[in-house]
Amino acid sequence: MHELIKTDIIKFGKIAGDRCLTPGISGNISVRCGNDIIITSSGSANSFLSEDDLSIIDFNGNLVEGNKKASSEKFLHIEFYKKRKDIGAICHFHSPYLTSLAACGLSLNDKILPEIVFMFDEIPCADYALPGSFELVEKTSLYFEKYNVILMKNHGVISAGRDLKEAYLNIELCEAYAKTFILSKFLGGAKILSDRQVEDIYSLR
Ligand SMILES: [Zn+2]
Repeated sequence: MHELIKTDIIKFGKIAGDRCLTPGISGNISVRCGNDIIITSSGSANSFLSEDDLSIIDFNGNLVEGNKKASSEKFLHIEFYKKRKDIGAICHFHSPYLTSLAACGLSLNDKILPEIVFMFDEIPCADYALPGSFELVEKTSLYFEKYNVILMKNHGVISAGRDLKEAYLNIELCEAYAKTFILSKFLGGAKILSDRQVEDIYSLR
C-alpha cells in the first residue's frame, strides 16, 4: 500500500514539474494512508523525488518512518485532513499564474467560466502568514471546510482531492484558469456570467 502511494507521489510530482507547476524545491505533496500521512520531505524537489524523499508522519506531526525531515508545511496538510474526512491527498504548489494572483492578494470570485463555477464556485485567497508557521495553518484552515482549492497570499496555492490525481488536476485546471483570467485582462477583461447563467450552471451539480 505505502509503496504504491509513494510511486504515485513520485509520478505526479514529475508531471507537475514537467508542466511548470512546482518550480525548484518549492511546494509539497501528501497522501492520507489510514492513520498516517505520506508527505514529501523538507527541501525536496517535487519533480525529482525518490522514495528517500518521502516521510511517513502521524497526525501529531511525528516522524513514523523515513530518513528525512517531513515538509515544514506538514501541519497545514494535517489540519486539512482533520477538517475534511472526504479528502485523501493534498498538493501545495507555487505555480506561477495562481501564485501571481496570490502575490496580489486576489481571490478568484468572478464567475467567468462554467467549468470553474461548476467545480469550485470561487477560489478564495487566505491571508498571509510566515511559511511553515502555525499562524499560516490558522489563517488558511479557515477555508478548508468549504473549499478544495485555496490561494495563499504572497505564497502559492493548496489543493485537496479525494485522491492524488484529483488534488493534482484541481491545481492544473485552476492554473489554466488563472492564466486565462490574467490574459483576459489584457483583452479588456472577461465578461462576467449573469446570475441566471450561474444558476443554470449550479443546477447541473
Ligand atoms: Zn509553499
